[in-house]
Amino acid sequence: MAKLFAVGAGLTALAACTPDGGTQPPSSSSPSGTSASAAPTAASSSAGPETSTAAATEPGTVAAPAPATTSAPTPTSPAAGLAKQYSLTDPASPWLVVNKHRPLSPADYVPADLVQPNVALAVSGEAAQLNSTTAAAAEQMFAAAAQDGVTMTLASGYRSYGTQVATYNSYVASRGQAEADTASARPGFSEHQTGWAFDIGDGGGACSFQPCFAEQPAAVWAKANGHRFGFVVRYPWMFHGITGYYYESWHLRYIGVEAATDMTARGINTLEEYFGLEAAPGYL
Ligand SMILES: [Zn+2]
Repeated sequence: MAKLFAVGAGLTALAACTPDGGTQPPSSSSPSGTSASAAPTAASSSAGPETSTAAATEPGTVAAPAPATTSAPTPTSPAAGLAKQYSLTDPASPWLVVNKHRPLSPADYVPADLVQPNVALAVSGEAAQLNSTTAAAAEQMFAAAAQDGVTMTLASGYRSYGTQVATYNSYVASRGQAEADTASARPGFSEHQTGWAFDIGDGGGACSFQPCFAEQPAAVWAKANGHRFGFVVRYPWMFHGITGYYYESWHLRYIGVEAATDMTARGINTLEEYFGLEAAPGYL
């Protein structure tokens, strides 16, 4: 027992001493599952001041005329082995990686195919929308969860650039920029703006968007089964040194069934590692 306590205390201390100084270290009762294993080590060493939009600004190191607006996974990344490859920079691509080093381009991108999925909604308006591919996958996943007796609601989906401006600015006004950056993406840096990501709830509410949501049936089920429908938990426990965000057991990201299943089977926890990208613990 003493040993368990010590381990928990150590993890809490580690989470609390990141540069961001966040307010939400993971609960010391380990969230069910596996993500406690590998600490974010090697990848963070590559966090240099490289340009975030891979294409276009590279200072002529290669002769090959690379496409200006797309980039594929690095040849050595695990994802490079999949039969079908997608762009990591096109916001309309299921493999788009947006993080604190990789803003959306254009910053005010709007998905062309926003729709409201036929699932239990805990929101209305734009937040009840997803891009059409993600919406279809969400409908399948929510139905499968229901069949297993798990209640799942769509708590927050699409968020426009304008909404993100308002959300982020209100955080800055009330808590200051440093703390805002741990709680809300800057405008043009949010996965919610792409339609590829959404937050789930469970219809209860007590643990909505809270660390204890990780132990609720909806989160446990989504973590175990999401890949079957193309989803991964985008900000897993203890990988904020790579993703830039503390554990969000409610935030799911669509990358397609093949990639999500492969990533899960390999035990890879972040999109940055899966696609061979640098860690993005903070804004450049
Ligand atoms: Zn989210």
